[in-house]
Amino acid sequence: METYIMALDAGTTSNRCILFNHRGEMVSVAQKEFQQFFPHPGWVEHDANEIWQTQLIVAREALRKAGITYRQVAAIGITNQRETTIVWDRKTGQPVSNAIVWQCRRTSDFTERLKADYPEVVDIFRKKTGLVIDPYFSGTKIRWILDNVPGVRERAEKGELAFGTVDSWLIYKLTKGRVHVTDYSNASRTLLFNIHTLQWDEELCRILDIPMSLLPEAKPSSWVYGETDPEFFGGPVKIAGAGGDQQCALFGQTCFNPGEAKNTYGTGAFLLMNIGEKPVLSNNGLVTTIAWGLDNKVVYALEGSVYVAGAAIQWLRDELRVVDSSPDSEYYATRVKDTNGCYVVPAFTGLGAPYWDPYARGVITGLTRGVNKYHIIRATLESLAFQSNDVLEAMEKDSGYPLSSLKVDGGACRNDFLMQFQADISNAPIRRPSCVETTAMGASYFAGLAVSYWEGRDDILKNWSIDREFMPRMNQDEREKQLRGWRQAVAVTRGWAKPEEKA
Ligand code: ADP
Repeated sequence: METYIMALDAGTTSNRCILFNHRGEMVSVAQKEFQQFFPHPGWVEHDANEIWQTQLIVAREALRKAGITYRQVAAIGITNQRETTIVWDRKTGQPVSNAIVWQCRRTSDFTERLKADYPEVVDIFRKKTGLVIDPYFSGTKIRWILDNVPGVRERAEKGELAFGTVDSWLIYKLTKGRVHVTDYSNASRTLLFNIHTLQWDEELCRILDIPMSLLPEAKPSSWVYGETDPEFFGGPVKIAGAGGDQQCALFGQTCFNPGEAKNTYGTGAFLLMNIGEKPVLSNNGLVTTIAWGLDNKVVYALEGSVYVAGAAIQWLRDELRVVDSSPDSEYYATRVKDTNGCYVVPAFTGLGAPYWDPYARGVITGLTRGVNKYHIIRATLESLAFQSNDVLEAMEKDSGYPLSSLKVDGGACRNDFLMQFQADISNAPIRRPSCVETTAMGASYFAGLAVSYWEGRDDILKNWSIDREFMPRMNQDEREKQLRGWRQAVAVTRGWAKPEEKA
């Protein structure tokens, strides 16, 4: 009887279930969207019950489609939208409010005040958690629920409530409330978890005024956390893996060694580099995070993101209207041999790592009479690679590991021109896998390793197959010239929207 691993991929706009076989091939997929709530500008919420129900529906559907029973599921692995915060009643299993989503900025004022009134805490959080104090992470979202939902703080003090990110919530529901855990990679995104000691931190909880009784037990990413209640799939199935989406993608891309990195080219770009078993703190505005806990070891990663990546191609399509579809950008870019000295810096919402300039705004520079729309399209595509390269260079500096290879996924990794340019400008081989479902694969590997479905890393490496490798072809002089031009263009964007100082 052939057995499979079930990956539950709990995303930001939809939940999916993918069944993988031993060769790492997808044998069944089901997907369902759920509702997004925007109660105020900048606020984003989900209904935690809907997240659970949609996840259960797609899990059952994936089994049904493949004609597989629970007995053929060797284990379940969960990967999830990170940082999204849920608080629920331990007895009834009912959430006390909607989930506060990672994108939600409602705690901006609180974080600004905390940093202004107690500047010393910035360093305390950075050293213990590897993070910066920002509304993005779970900590201040938990506090918001405690302070704003009537009666919740009192119930929390009495130990009646539980907090969890989406992994934790789904495990709680799947086990009918028997298990309240999270994995290290998810815990490391809360602002409450000490990434060196692998413990929830009393001092951090005190600063944010969060009772520790709320917190789940933190466990490795590859670990048998419990079994599903027989009601859901007809019998019990082991839940044996969990990890945040970006960390799972790093594992699914088999970036097992220090210096190996992955880049997901979606709307934005998410870069993570494996930095081995010692966490290094960044001097370039990257965050340090737990990549995974596996085989009694913890592996760390540096993480940085580019706000506008594929979104710049959407801008070409929807605002400039110079392409009909995003993939067309490749055809136009290759109609010219270079950008004719033109650079596009799509700093539409400021610049993130390593510049951290909220006042930067986009520019098209180097225009001469001969620059045409193909040059601008090409320069826009190149900007995805230049921005990613800025983050990669910061990672190399912080970690001391030279970039050995970059594995890619996400919608825009299909663009061959972009991939070749990334190889050229970063002077590293770019490897595009045949299966770009790396996030779900990572979760299934964590689960499969915990139950010996796969024996070890070598067993998994066999499953990662390459679609195409792009080798650097640009000579050093040309690379340096292009990078100089890019830096000049970035300099023009800096501080553009800064409010004028009042005299
Ligand atoms: P997300 O998960 O963030 O929604 P996806 O991974 O689905 O993003 O990727 C979609 C993004 O990739 C869009 O911004 C789109 O413009 C861009 N994109 C998709 N295909 C291509 C392509 N062939 N060339 C350039 N950009 C592309």
